[in-house]
Formats: sequence, structure tokens, C-alpha cells
Amino acid sequence: MEENLKKQLMEQAGFKCKKCSYYSPLGQGLEVNKQFNCVLCSVCNTFAPRELEKFNEYINEKINWQELETFRRFGTNKGSHTPHKHGMVSKAKEGMLMARPAFGYNVINGQLSVHPENSEAVRDIFNLFLEGLSLNQIAKRFDISVNGIKKILKNFTYIGKIKFNSQIHQGNHQSIISPEVFNRVQQKFDKQKEI
Ligand SMILES: [Zn+2]
Repeated sequence: MEENLKKQLMEQAGFKCKKCSYYSPLGQGLEVNKQFNCVLCSVCNTFAPRELEKFNEYINEKINWQELETFRRFGTNKGSHTPHKHGMVSKAKEGMLMARPAFGYNVINGQLSVHPENSEAVRDIFNLFLEGLSLNQIAKRFDISVNGIKKILKNFTYIGKIKFNSQIHQGNHQSIISPEVFNRVQQKFDKQKEI
């Protein structure tokens, strides 16, 4: 890419990563995603999807740059023989974060930890759904959008797993929901689809 264009794009972006707002006034640690001409930090750029729709989703899923510090320290060399990305992926498998924590969790030292009150709400949401309340009713009760409730009910994080690079891995954080309850909820969703 032409250096001028790169500089121009960085200036337009205010020398900030579009996803995590990582700020680097000299442009160090920032890259231009050549496919979409979008300024991202090297960490966010490493994991950026190549499909426009997914890319936009990825950008809109904001994340705090501080949550990425661990990854930034490991470095993100994208060459094919780099051990770095591997290291990052296994870090992620260990339960580190690539996105905002799921409702019901906090991030403490880069690890998911259970938020006492919100995790109680998560349990209630699962139970109420199994008791037969509609998504609408649950959404109203918790002041969360219907889509938000659906996301909660389908989120593997609550059974101690993490989704990373569209694969489900075993995390090392505490679960909030038992696999039995989680599976019953998924079965209920599947049944609703059939109707
Ligand atoms: Zn970033």
C-alpha cells in the first residue's frame, strides 16, 4: 500500500483502532486492513474476518483495548511460520477474551469471572424460558432486547466453553449454567423451529 494513503487513512481514523480504540499517535501497532481500507490495531487486524458482512459485525462488536493488552504483548506476526498466533490461539483457548465478556461475567486480570448479580439473572433467564415464558416476556422483565435474550440462551460461555475462530473450545472459566439446563434450552429452540 502506498505510504501516503496509509498515512491519510490513519489520520482519518484519528490513529485509533476502529474496533478496540487502541490509540497510537505515531501509528505504531496500527495497521491498515487492505481489504476494507480500515485502520485496526495489529491484534484486531489479525482476527478480522474477510467477508464484508462479518467484518462489519466484527468492527461493531466493540472491545476495550485494555482487554487486548495480553495479546498485544505476545505480538501478532501474521507470517505462516509464526509461533505467535499459535500462542494467542491457545491463550484464547485458556479462556482469555477476544470480545466483550458475556452478560453475567466480569473481566479480572484478563480472565472471565462470575458477576454475582448478573449471573443470578442469567440463571433466571434460562429457568424462566424452560418454565414457558416467551422471549418477549423475558426481555421485558430484564429490560434486555429479545435478540439479547436469545444470544444469552445460546451462549456457550455459560457452560464453561468459549467460542473462538468459530470453534467451540473448553474454557477455564467458571460455568453459570449446567450442561443439562443448557441442552434443554437448545432442544426447546430446535422444537420451536420445527413448528
Ligand atoms: Zn484493536
